[in-house]
Amino acid sequence: MKPIKTMLIAPPHFLYFNSLGIPQLTGYLESKGRQVKQILVDTLFYDYFLSEEQLRKGFSYLRTNVNDNFRKDIISEIKNYLPIKQSFFTNKSLNKDLLSLILDNKDQVIKLVHQAYVEFKTKNTQVEKEQFRLNHLIIKFGLKISSLPYYPTKIDPIQGITMRYNPFSISELEEATEDTKENPLISFYKEYLFPEIKAYNPSLLGIQINHESQVIPAFTILKWVKKELPSIKVIVGGSLISYLKDQVIKIDRLWEYFDFLGIGMGEYTLDTLVGCLENNGDYQTVPNLLYRKNGSFLKTKFQDVNLNDLAVPHYDESKPKPIIPYFSSSGCYWARCKFCEYPYHHNKFGHYNSKAIDLIIDDLKHIKNEYDPHLVFFCDSDILPSRLDELSDALIQEDLDLDLFVWIRAEKEFTSKEFCQKLKKAGIKAACMGLEAGSQRINDEMDKGIQVSDVDTIIRNFYDVGIIANIFSIVGLPGETREEVLLTREFFQRNKEFIKGDISISSFMLSTYCLISINPEEFGIEILHPEDDQLYPILNYSIDHGLTPEEAALFRDRFQEEFNDSSYTDGKFFISTLE
Ligand code: SF4
Repeated sequence: MKPIKTMLIAPPHFLYFNSLGIPQLTGYLESKGRQVKQILVDTLFYDYFLSEEQLRKGFSYLRTNVNDNFRKDIISEIKNYLPIKQSFFTNKSLNKDLLSLILDNKDQVIKLVHQAYVEFKTKNTQVEKEQFRLNHLIIKFGLKISSLPYYPTKIDPIQGITMRYNPFSISELEEATEDTKENPLISFYKEYLFPEIKAYNPSLLGIQINHESQVIPAFTILKWVKKELPSIKVIVGGSLISYLKDQVIKIDRLWEYFDFLGIGMGEYTLDTLVGCLENNGDYQTVPNLLYRKNGSFLKTKFQDVNLNDLAVPHYDESKPKPIIPYFSSSGCYWARCKFCEYPYHHNKFGHYNSKAIDLIIDDLKHIKNEYDPHLVFFCDSDILPSRLDELSDALIQEDLDLDLFVWIRAEKEFTSKEFCQKLKKAGIKAACMGLEAGSQRINDEMDKGIQVSDVDTIIRNFYDVGIIANIFSIVGLPGETREEVLLTREFFQRNKEFIKGDISISSFMLSTYCLISINPEEFGIEILHPEDDQLYPILNYSIDHGLTPEEAALFRDRFQEEFNDSSYTDGKFFISTLE
């Protein structure tokens, strides 16, 4: 048996902290003695696009391209950056329009973008909240400039890369991976990523796709690997892939890019697959795998990953006081909300599984010693109040002095001020919960299982004890009337002064896999069938009562404008945790 090398890649997506999936898989494979190297492309990616060279390229494009649409686009977007005008330019020039100012002061702008990025890399969260917000906006602006030569492609610190191509249309996806003019990743990968893959020369390559913005970046890598290094076996996984697996297996063209799909959590899958490749074994022994053999698709047995088996993730973090993502349970313990696709992100519907509290404490001790984080960001979809109670007891006893961000459901237990005080004492710094609708009737119809009045109480409790509340809501859930949607507005009007984190307002989108889509007639919904040759995470639909999707989108925009500062909306969930 000859040990093989595995390389795991997380395509670019987000500047401010590591994604968790690949570090967790790497940590697990290392704990099993496997030879593995991970590349979290984010760091390289943002270093490259915030470099002086890329910024200068952006400026020369801005100066020489006077195409009307392009100018109009840029000018309308640049308005979002007015808060940085003051910090970029001297008072005497402030009466000029922002675009002229930028063009006339190229060197000054490049210097300020560079300063903001260096401050982020060297001080990270050790700057005041207002300074971090300003740096965020300057970095966002710098990326806007450096992505101009690839117009209309956009690069953003929070949204990653967005192209005009629909990543779920297979033809457009293929075009995007070949478009050297608009896809900035092709030249970036050639310079920075592909040589690393070649040098490491893995036998197995794993790529994770968790978000829509990672689809084109991932397939740009896959296309090159299959052409240049065809002997490498390739497995693709991640929550988006798990969610869309039934569609992916039917599209033959996609299988030219990879050999296997890993479904659900990938720790056992990867470890067993490595063993299988080393021993020339049978893929049927590898759990949670989809692959092709002689033209047909084979699915292997489901095996639950026991979270107690997992090692501490291999974080790739060198910044001071970082935000460290962590995961103490998988799935959702409730899994009943009819609009929610999350229970379908796993290999088995709504599968819930959790790690023992004493093992979590061991992990947190390690994280504290190694990274001294600003915040441990729990990625669990929600933590049961009883588990949070137990975890709080252990944290208080161990006196770890850590700050935690958690997702919860607005359960009755949190209406107790005493319980909230205990959470605060244990280190819970911020929490995020779904209100969904301000109308109790709509939440009941959706089987949300919470009381709107409890959310009011919890927000005030959190405010009183010093926990930052972040609230998610959805307007236009099926059957919601114009009168009912205004209850969501009233909810935020009466609570906004107590919500110190994010007020997130989205409009309802019909997930392809959710309880509503199984039985759309019950909600008066008619599904408009998607076109061929594409993946469809979301379905278009019409509805015979309540708000239409278009009306819901208008309410969303109206409420967002009313309750959010548009220039600082994104990132507020973690920026609000800074002092
Ligand atoms: S909305 Fe939240 S609580 Fe409801 S099923 Fe989805 S993840 Fe679970």
